[in-house]
Amino acid sequence: MSEYSDRLKLRILATTDIHGFYMNFDYYRDQAVDRLGLISLANVIKDARSENPNSLLFDNGDLLQGSPMSDYLRDYALANEHPAYTLMNELHYDAATLGNHEFNFGVPYLLEVITQANFPYVNANITNEAGETLLPASVLLDREFITESGQIIPLKIGVTGILPPQIMTWDKNHLDEYAVSHERLVTRDAVTSVKVEAKSLKAQGADIVIVLAHTGFSKKPFEIGMENSGYYIAQIPEVDALVTGHQHRRFPSESYRELSEFGFDVDKGLVQGTPAVMPGSWARWLGVIDLELIENAGKWEVAGNSTHLRYVED
Ligand code: MN
Ligand code: MG
Repeated sequence: MSEYSDRLKLRILATTDIHGFYMNFDYYRDQAVDRLGLISLANVIKDARSENPNSLLFDNGDLLQGSPMSDYLRDYALANEHPAYTLMNELHYDAATLGNHEFNFGVPYLLEVITQANFPYVNANITNEAGETLLPASVLLDREFITESGQIIPLKIGVTGILPPQIMTWDKNHLDEYAVSHERLVTRDAVTSVKVEAKSLKAQGADIVIVLAHTGFSKKPFEIGMENSGYYIAQIPEVDALVTGHQHRRFPSESYRELSEFGFDVDKGLVQGTPAVMPGSWARWLGVIDLELIENAGKWEVAGNSTHLRYVED
């Protein structure tokens, strides 16, 4: 008989591309709706957590811009509380990354408003000209989880994030302005940045590495600086779970079945073997990645996974 090994189920929950939809209100139709907005998704998050006490919650960027309300908040949120963070602090997010649209209101606004978050922001591919990252490139979260046998065990969860390097063009005016008042920011290739960070997180003792990748999927051949690099990030060996976004599409969903020959498994929610989600936009979907960890000689290793999206129900 083999020696008994303890098991642990770890659940990773993720939002992306909320774009100013915090309340259950469609600002374009000027009416309340039940199927979008972070306040509606909060119930989905609550349910998902109630099924597994070992849950972590992340946001993948494009949070602060995109609805008429978010434009209004630009002038209001610094002197007051930004409702995104009122909600997200209440929901106990564990970490977040920036999307490209976070730069639409200028760098000083961004750097000030994110200080309202009671959780860390990470980004590994925006630096100054000396190569120092604007935000922490990654974070190691010390968390305790409960195993199948009822033991409480500590795990180190490494989290890093990236965005499309194209912000240099898309928000050139804001970045030029920041260069005059503060310093010149530049972007690095996303895949290269994650490779470095993921390796470093594992070397620092991370049991699990999660990438918050504000980027989509493209099967185009790899190119340094490519906009949608999720397919290549999924192939980095140290990446245990991948959150994507930016394209406002959904993974896993039938629309990716045509890419099965490239390693997109929509039944299992895997991209080249890595569990991945892309939870749409406007807080209508929650990404759920379930990892099954098994204890092997004192180390916790991923032994299985399953991935799905949840919708805001009636
Ligand atoms: Mn977006
Ligand atoms: Mg985006």
